[in-house]
Amino acid sequence: SLLLGSMCGLLSGILCLYVMATRLRPGREILSAIKRDQFHIVYQPVVHASDLHIGGVEVLMRWTHPVAGNIPPDAFISFAEGQNLIVPLTCHLFELIAKEAPALQKVLPPGTKLGINISPSHLHAESFRQDIRNLIASLPENYFQVVLELTERDMLNEKQAVKVFDWLHSEGVEIAIDDFGTGHSALIYLERFTLDYLKIDRGFINAIGTETVTSPVLDTVLTLTHRLNLVTVAEGVETQEQATWLRDHGVDFLQGYWISKPLTLAQLIDAHNEPAKY
Ligand code: C2E
Ligand code: CA
Ligand code: CA
Ligand code: CA
Repeated sequence: SLLLGSMCGLLSGILCLYVMATRLRPGREILSAIKRDQFHIVYQPVVHASDLHIGGVEVLMRWTHPVAGNIPPDAFISFAEGQNLIVPLTCHLFELIAKEAPALQKVLPPGTKLGINISPSHLHAESFRQDIRNLIASLPENYFQVVLELTERDMLNEKQAVKVFDWLHSEGVEIAIDDFGTGHSALIYLERFTLDYLKIDRGFINAIGTETVTSPVLDTVLTLTHRLNLVTVAEGVETQEQATWLRDHGVDFLQGYWISKPLTLAQLIDAHNEPAKY
């Protein structure tokens, strides 16, 4: 049993080293992936519920890894956050957007909203304001409406949040609360913060059409947002039935596979030349 014990110790040591190595690697790999241009952007259309014409696109990151293939953002964003790499990664994303902006301008109408996901640590980083200023300066003047998508989890400190939101508005940037309904104390924010859009999490949208009665939470959220005059976006709309229900219940914008999957710039250009797609 002594032998067994020391073997276990050795094994767990090896396991520990392995975990450390694999944990450390993604961090270094993210930086080299930036240098090697392995990240790209896809754009998911967000349409007006009333007539399905495009109102915006959500910018989503993709990593094409030479060995692992396509790595979904859920797998590397949290790594980047944990390794203090979310700021360089997001700044790289800003550069990619700026690079594609002239081509985007040709296929998207003026005023199109560019929804960009911002991680909480970036919001609180020293460089945040300068990074946002750089982004705005790199885009065609007065063409796109920048909308930062923040989750409820990001609003840790109320005073700080109010200050940042006021500053963003003074720079002409709008704010959307992402994944609404999945966080805590969500309702408090609606009254206290000046928000522009509320993106209702797809968990609530899923339920439409699958249950005899729709979610009472969704009903409450919609009643409340109308009272507060908030503009709503439904995420993860996958069926016509859901789209119709949402439109009839006063939701302003729709996003989801029923309208369009996220598209590369080339696919967005194709879709523009073949308008029946949305
Ligand atoms: P999110 O902000 O909630 O983005 C929406 C996600 O839902 C996207 O997944 C999109 O592809 C997916 N989606 C859209 N319509 C449908 C639908 O009808 N059905 C289903 N099942 N899914 C749909 P994606 O691109 O894999 O991104 C996952 C998450 O990763 C995003 O969730 C966001 O939190 C994060 N993310 C993506 N890009 C970035 C980025 O540039 N920066 C940061 N900080 N986070 C990002
Ligand atoms: Ca989002
Ligand atoms: Ca979301
Ligand atoms: Ca999400």
